[in-house]
Amino acid sequence: MTSRAQQDRESIARVAVILARRRVTSTSLDRSPADDSLELHRIATRLHRADERNCNEDLTCPACGGDGFTKPPDGTSALPDQPWECRKCAGRGRTTGRAEARNEARAREIANAYNLRVYFQGDPRGCPLYLIPNEREAGQGGDACNYSITGIAVCHLG
Ligand SMILES: [Zn+2]
Repeated sequence: MTSRAQQDRESIARVAVILARRRVTSTSLDRSPADDSLELHRIATRLHRADERNCNEDLTCPACGGDGFTKPPDGTSALPDQPWECRKCAGRGRTTGRAEARNEARAREIANAYNLRVYFQGDPRGCPLYLIPNEREAGQGGDACNYSITGIAVCHLG
């Protein structure tokens, strides 16, 4: 029987091999596909924790009341009744929104270097991050319908 730590190492190695075969551009000269695989797994772990918290806690953003929009701040040129993306939560309506947006942007940046796109699966019972080869078309309904078939699962650690 394999331990969770062993499963984590195998998952990091499996994704690193896939990345090494797909490498298109380097995110940085001193980074390897193994570094990128490890970072993607760490991002998946943070996203998983946020997904779990979102299920178990009330994370409603106090600044926008959860709808992701606020009135424009005074002194801006936006029309007064036009909604303004909430800066406290990056328009996500949850207190974890800004951190999630940052983690997702970094995952997207790493994936781009391998000609992959990302799909974020928000149910904490499953893997939070999938890498989908850009040559695979999303198909009808988009990646949300077939990410588990076309994508490479990056599961959370621990
Ligand atoms: Zn907000």
